[in-house]
Amino acid sequence: MSESTRPAVPTTNLPAFGFERTFADQVPGVTLPWQGTHAPDPRVLTLNDALARSLALDPASLRTVEGAGVLSGSVPPADTVTVAMAYAGHQFGNFQPLLGDGRALLLGELRDDHGRRVDLHLKGSGATPFSRGGDGRAVVAAMLREYLISEAMHALDIPTTRSLAVVTTGEQVVREGGPQPGAVLARVASSHLRVGTFEFAARREGLVQSLADYAIARHYPAFLELPAGDRYLAFFEAVVDAQASLVAQWMSVGFVHGVMNTDNTTISGETIDYGPCAFLDAYDPATVFSSIDHGGRYAYGNQPAVLGWNLARFGETLLPLVNSVPDDAISALTAVLDTYGDRYRKHYSTAMAAKLGLEAAAVDAELVDGLLRLLTDHRADWTQTFRALAENLRGNSAPIDSLVPPDASTSWLERWRVAISARGLDLSSVADEMDRVNPVYIPRNHLVDAALQAATEGDLELFERLLEVVTSPFDRRDEWSDYALPAPENFSAGFQTFCGT
Ligand code: AMP
Ligand code: MG
Repeated sequence: MSESTRPAVPTTNLPAFGFERTFADQVPGVTLPWQGTHAPDPRVLTLNDALARSLALDPASLRTVEGAGVLSGSVPPADTVTVAMAYAGHQFGNFQPLLGDGRALLLGELRDDHGRRVDLHLKGSGATPFSRGGDGRAVVAAMLREYLISEAMHALDIPTTRSLAVVTTGEQVVREGGPQPGAVLARVASSHLRVGTFEFAARREGLVQSLADYAIARHYPAFLELPAGDRYLAFFEAVVDAQASLVAQWMSVGFVHGVMNTDNTTISGETIDYGPCAFLDAYDPATVFSSIDHGGRYAYGNQPAVLGWNLARFGETLLPLVNSVPDDAISALTAVLDTYGDRYRKHYSTAMAAKLGLEAAAVDAELVDGLLRLLTDHRADWTQTFRALAENLRGNSAPIDSLVPPDASTSWLERWRVAISARGLDLSSVADEMDRVNPVYIPRNHLVDAALQAATEGDLELFERLLEVVTSPFDRRDEWSDYALPAPENFSAGFQTFCGT
């Protein structure tokens, strides 16, 4: 790709970010040197001090005018050339040969406190050559939404990109419904390699091999020891497993991603691109929140199947690397893909076992399905159910009885308690174990909406309080009791989420 004209912006010597740049250097052809656009008045709106420190970045420096300048993309870091990344992808099943970072910029790579390489990436930093007519901007509400929900996911122990900061740009951005304050999200990810990055590379001579070698070295270095034929197959298997595990964890907390396009499916197994995502209140597999998901393709209950479809698209990109004989490559990759269903079920049943206070081997599909039927029939709140079951073990049945009427739940509860008793443990210690994996607090849709609306109007108090609550999801506190409640029925009925670009 050729370097395009870039706006001339003076560099700063503030940030001793210490960026590395292995991706752009080692996989030429997937990135384009690019700078963010000018932001008239960049200011840090929210900053993740702990995450900054874990990257050896000084929070106080990041809060300065210069720091906000870099985190908005307005001021290029002194020690690197920033890039926009190209990718392709299947969006709602349709192939788009060129998507890419239309409004995002890879500032560079840093090391976290375990020495692992991570990307620092900006979203909303202005149009790039991949913008396809978009304005390259982002708004406060949408960027705070990604910040809040990604940090909640992290606190729930689910692999995810992290959020370092949201910086306001000092500009208004025109959106449906009127102008909104512009913002940029600074995001940290173990990489921004997507299935869509492979779909882009696979259509260009020789590129997919250098991309796969880079991805293996970065995420699955043990496979570098393997002979070439096995290496790419092992890589495929590792991604299949990491993604199967990820989606099983989404299901276990009632998370609906909303846009499971292949360009939003990572090679690392991290959740990425929080757009119209939301958490279930009442359990219902058909739940769709996204205003653009008309057919329910990405409904809660479809997520495991959609992931299988996305992984098939990923496997196709690796065909020439696995075997030069096409039929042999197809059989080898298909054999791995065929393990996806079992892998997913294993991860899901392990997660459900922990939620139910059981060992993985002690939970059978019938027990889980029986519970899901009860919850569906009675529209029981997913998150509250598991804390209520722990209370039941402590001898307090009121919470579960308020979610599922006792005449409907008795036989299931009996079966479950027989399985629990077989562990031979003290019931209250099993209840404590359950409470360590079942959150009290998730980002409830009505609370997220209220917090983002206030933040758009300049008041961050609700946002900050909600962030504090959802990043301590397992510890019940009396003063947070309202945060554990589902949305009022009249809110949930027509609730929709928007891509909110
Ligand atoms: P997303 O829905 O965020 O996964 O984005 C899908 C594609 O649209 C990606 O190529 C994005 O970079 C691009 N995109 C989304 N919003 C904008 C925007 N406001 N300006 C330019 N490109 C955008
Ligand atoms: Mg995306």
